[in-house]
Amino acid sequence: MDAKRRSYLQALTEAPIGTFSTIGDWTKPSSFERPVDRKLLTSPAAIEKIRTQWNKTPIRFDLFFVNDPRADKAAVQGKGAVTLDFVRKYLQLTPQEFSDPSPDAITAIFTGNFGNDLVPPTGWMIAHRLGHALSATGNINGVWETATYKIDSIVTTLLKKSYRMRPDGSYVLPQGPVFGRVAEIWAAGQLGTMKSARDQRLSSVYEFVYELLAQYLLTGRVTLKPLTPVAAEDTVKYAGKIEGLLKSGLQSSVGKIFLL
Ligand SMILES: [Zn+2]
Repeated sequence: MDAKRRSYLQALTEAPIGTFSTIGDWTKPSSFERPVDRKLLTSPAAIEKIRTQWNKTPIRFDLFFVNDPRADKAAVQGKGAVTLDFVRKYLQLTPQEFSDPSPDAITAIFTGNFGNDLVPPTGWMIAHRLGHALSATGNINGVWETATYKIDSIVTTLLKKSYRMRPDGSYVLPQGPVFGRVAEIWAAGQLGTMKSARDQRLSSVYEFVYELLAQYLLTGRVTLKPLTPVAAEDTVKYAGKIEGLLKSGLQSSVGKIFLL
């Protein structure tokens, strides 16, 4: 597809953040403990930047951030897909704070900043965390799970196309023989064009999937670096496949509420 047609189609499908809402008293620590996180999510300039970063997403998102004792308990954190009843009963958000979710958007409720991602909730990080939410237990359809599984397989496929596997199962990489999962994580780091990949900070292939999701949401596409020059054509083809997988995973999540 040429660039002009691509940007025309993108303009048709672009759907920026609908709602960006902070619930609770953000002057005090609660479920969002760190001052830096609370400052960022309540700063008009920072919110504007996040909205701008997210304006290429193919799907509308309604984002809610809750800094409140009601959100400060394990029972409501990292749940993945939940029902509106769950939000009312366990998170106890009132209809004034959180109205019925839009059937045309992905709704995400962030109850804090925790887990392995203790970095400020920037536009990129919010998109990355959304990947965790889509993958969390409680997701009720398999499209996203299949997409992540297939992206994982693509990393392995590209690794196998570029590097020989020895009979003992190790890959002959430039740094020497490396086994299975470790070799795959190395390959993900080589394939990725985002900062975490360049800095070799990916801890798993799934973390790479969430980074690809962030790249896709914020730039409208996925870019990969070929592992070896001969693999360049394949790499472009597979980047396109990954875009399709992420898009179908996201589309299957429209109308749902994700609790992070
Ligand atoms: Zn992560």
